[in-house]
Amino acid sequence: MSIRTNLEHIRERIALAAARAGRDPSEITLVAVSKTKPCEAIREAVSAGATILGENRVQEAESKIAELHDLPAVWHLIGHLQTNKANKAVLLFDLIHSVDSPRLVEAVNRAAQSIGTRQAILLQVNIAGEEQKFGIAPGEFEHLLDYALAVPAVEVKGLMVMPPFSENPEEARPYFRALRDLAARYTNELGNRPELSMGMTGDFEVAIEEGSTMVRIGTAIFGAR
Ligand SMILES: *Cc1c(COP(=O)(O)O)cnc(C)c1O
Repeated sequence: MSIRTNLEHIRERIALAAARAGRDPSEITLVAVSKTKPCEAIREAVSAGATILGENRVQEAESKIAELHDLPAVWHLIGHLQTNKANKAVLLFDLIHSVDSPRLVEAVNRAAQSIGTRQAILLQVNIAGEEQKFGIAPGEFEHLLDYALAVPAVEVKGLMVMPPFSENPEEARPYFRALRDLAARYTNELGNRPELSMGMTGDFEVAIEEGSTMVRIGTAIFGAR
C-alpha cells in the first residue's frame, strides 16, 4: 500500500473514532511519525497532505530538516530530549512533546530566550508510574507545571503520554483517561482545551475516544520500521 493510501485510511479511521465519541474530527491533529524513514518517503507523505512530521532524535531530524527545507510542513519532537540538545531543538521544532523535568524546562527556556522566541511544549507524564520510563511522575506533575508556567520563554500547550506497551489497545484506555483527567484538574493553568498528545498506530482510536487532540502515527503511514 502506498503512503498516500495509508494516509487516507488513517484519516478515515480518525473520523470514525471521532464520530463514535461525538467529536469533530477537525479537533484531532495528525502527527506523521517519520523517524528512521528516508526523505523520499517523507516527501511522499507531505505531497499526500501530511503537514506535521514527528521525529524522536534531534540529530536525525536535523539532517532531514535541512534536506527537506522546501517542504510545506513543520516538525515536532516526540522523543526524549537531552538538555544539551535544547539549543538545536528550539531551532528545529514547532512543538516539543517530551518535556519531563524542571531541568529540561530550564534548558529549553534558556535556548528559546537566546534566539528571541518562545518554545511551545507539552509535558510528558509517566501516568502509569513505570520505572525507567520517560515522563514526570504524576505526584511531581504540579511542581513541573508551575515551574514551566513561571519561565518566560516556554509556552505549555498541554500534556503527552506513552502508556505501557500492550498488544491490546483497550489496556491503554485507563491511561489515556487518566491523562485527560489530570489535565482537567488544571484548567486554570492549561485552559479548557489543552492539547492531549496520545495515541499511536496500535491505540489511536481508543485515544481519540478518550479525548486525544494529537495522534502520533508512524507505522500505519510509513510501514514497519
Ligand atoms: C515511534 C513513536 C510513535 C509512533 O509509533 P507507531 O506505533 O509507529 O505509530 C509515537 N510516539 C512516540 C513517542 C514514538 O517514539
